[in-house]
Amino acid sequence: MRVLVGGGTGFVGRTLTSLLKSNGHEVTIISRNPGPGRITWQELPSKGLPPCDAAVNLAGENIMNPLRRWTEEFKKEVTNSRVDTTQILARAIARAEKPPEAWVLVTGVSFYAPSETVEYDEDSAGGNYDFASRLVTAMEAAARIPGDSAAAGVTRGVMVRAGFVLGRDGGAIPSMLLPFRLGLGGPIGSGCQNLPWIHVADLAGIIAHVLESKNVTGVLNGVAPSFNTNRDFARALGAALRRPTILPLPAFMVNAIFGSERGVMLLEGAKVRPRRTLESGYRYAFPELGPALRDILS
Ligand code: NDP
Repeated sequence: MRVLVGGGTGFVGRTLTSLLKSNGHEVTIISRNPGPGRITWQELPSKGLPPCDAAVNLAGENIMNPLRRWTEEFKKEVTNSRVDTTQILARAIARAEKPPEAWVLVTGVSFYAPSETVEYDEDSAGGNYDFASRLVTAMEAAARIPGDSAAAGVTRGVMVRAGFVLGRDGGAIPSMLLPFRLGLGGPIGSGCQNLPWIHVADLAGIIAHVLESKNVTGVLNGVAPSFNTNRDFARALGAALRRPTILPLPAFMVNAIFGSERGVMLLEGAKVRPRRTLESGYRYAFPELGPALRDILS
């Protein structure tokens, strides 16, 4: 299968690319920068979709970059980097003479309103709660293929709503290692908030499974099947590193670093079940947090 991967140079994209290649597929990356095995976002509208059997979009400015202040300008960058790239790809698919068989977009579980008790699955309502949930709605709308296009009825659309992606080479873990290794780690805020998470190998695995199964459509939650709170996560990370985790990071500090609209993504969380992902036949390599963290830190 020939697969186009927008944002394939990133944290999830690198794992996905190597998994797809090891499964015998060909990968072309869509990037802002030209290079071997790549096309650029600028080229896509003028040159059209290159021959491919599937397309995936993972592109997006890192929303949790602590070095970027949460300004209107940064929020626009976060939004446009996801919505514009998704729209460019969806339009190229719609116009393609031979549209791909599958089109996968990775969004986030921030779609679901935070709650310590309510359990959500892919059919639950959401998407209009705060900045991050409306961003998911905007991305998923940008991915829609118009009904009168060549791709309508040909291209399967799948949205994977991912939780916090855990891995060695990106996401939240690398920046947490130093404080946790120094024994300065602990839960964030109250620690009672749900923390929907997924090992990067499983997120890449779900995307590959979607591409390789001919009948999966619609929304899949890209989270592990076990429920964990932020406190569980701090304890499991401390245990994997054999360090104490007694120092909580207070909410006011999180808000001071990230801004309250972004801090909420760390201070609150939803209980998200991957019901359709499991029903689709996907088998998790890391369904439990402890083994996932031990694998990442090994
Ligand atoms: P990365 O932060 O690694 O970024 C992926 C790629 O996006 C980069 O390699 C870059 O590719 C491209 N990119 C970065 N900034 C911009 C920009 N301003 N404009 C256009 N393209 C840009 O992302 P991840 O791999 O961590 O995540 C992949 C997707 O999954 C993202 O959309 C993210 O929102 C979503 N997600 C991730 C989670 C996580 O915990 N990591 C959690 C939930 C959802 P290049 O430089 O080649 O153009």
